Formats: sequence, C-alpha cells, structure tokens
Amino acid sequence: METRKTDALGRIVIPKDLRIKYDIMSEGSDIDIIPTEEGILLKKHCDTCAICGSSNDLVNYAGKYYCRTCIKNLNTEAKMKWGDTEAYKDYQKKAENMSEADKQLLSGELMNIFGEFGEIKSSDPTSDSAQELVLTLQKYITDNYYKCTDDILRGLGQMYVNDMRFKKSIDDTCGEGTAEFVSKAIAAKK
Ligand SMILES: [Zn+2]
Repeated sequence: METRKTDALGRIVIPKDLRIKYDIMSEGSDIDIIPTEEGILLKKHCDTCAICGSSNDLVNYAGKYYCRTCIKNLNTEAKMKWGDTEAYKDYQKKAENMSEADKQLLSGELMNIFGEFGEIKSSDPTSDSAQELVLTLQKYITDNYYKCTDDILRGLGQMYVNDMRFKKSIDDTCGEGTAEFVSKAIAAKK
C-alpha cells in the first residue's frame, strides 16, 4: 500500500507500476469510479454485454452493449417460438407470394399502427386507448398476414422487445421506448 496526497482539484496520480499492471498506461483511458463500503474503487472501464457481461464482440444498441452471442440467442429464441407455428408458416407463404411493393405497403401500414403506439408511449399501457390499439394491431395482422390469436399476439409482443431487429426498427421509426410500450400493452390485454 502507498499513500498519496490529492492536489487542489482532488486529483491523485495512480502509481506507474499499477498503471502498467492494470493496463491503463495510455492517456485518456476511461476509469470507472465505483463507491464501495471500503472506499473508492478505480477500475479500468470495460464495456460489457448487458445480458451476459461478456466484453467480446459487442454491439451498441440504444446506449447499451450486447454481445453477438446473446443477440443470436435472442433471435433464435424468437424464431423457435414462432418459426414452428402454423401462423408463421402461413405468413411466410404469403410473404413469398407478395411483391416488394405489397410488402412495403403492408409493413408501412403496420408501422403506422406502431406510430400511434409511439404517440402515447408515455401513458399507461393498460389504458383504453392503448388497449384499443392492441386490438387494431391484432385485427390488422389477422386481416393481412395470418390469424393472430391472443397467444400469437403475446408472442409477438415479446418478440418486439427481445428481437433486436424488431425493437430497433420500431424504436427508430416511432421513438425510443415504443417497442417496450407495445409489448407491455399487449401483455396487459385481457
Ligand atoms: Zn452477451
């Protein structure tokens, strides 16, 4: 142990041998300052996956990091839940026969519904207006894609937040937090 004095601004110099040991030799290294019971812990900053804590192969999404393994697992999970259902197969078949223009029109209209969710995303997801939108969404999917049962709808609700591609496209288009709001509103459907 070594005792050092702070300067007028509260700065201290971290001993060089410790900077070498902890690989913080380069100027501008980010240091996390962590209050603990014992005192202040200084730790070399390291971005980690919000799910598993790994620091490998990270992707930044909405201010948080996710590793590619976790992203892949989430996508596989969503696919496993939905990829095997009749409704999903039905949807895939329809999607195959649709022209690009049709697909874009449909997804555009669907995005408009998400847009309406986005406008009320700071309100209560159990409110009448949010619940009306849930019914609108369900009916729209049934009319245009496949019969969207309550079970399927609930699964979609989870997928909108668990599948980063869905979450990102919804939030990018309709505002940060929309996917989560839609998911909560669906979960609250009676
Ligand atoms: Zn991870």
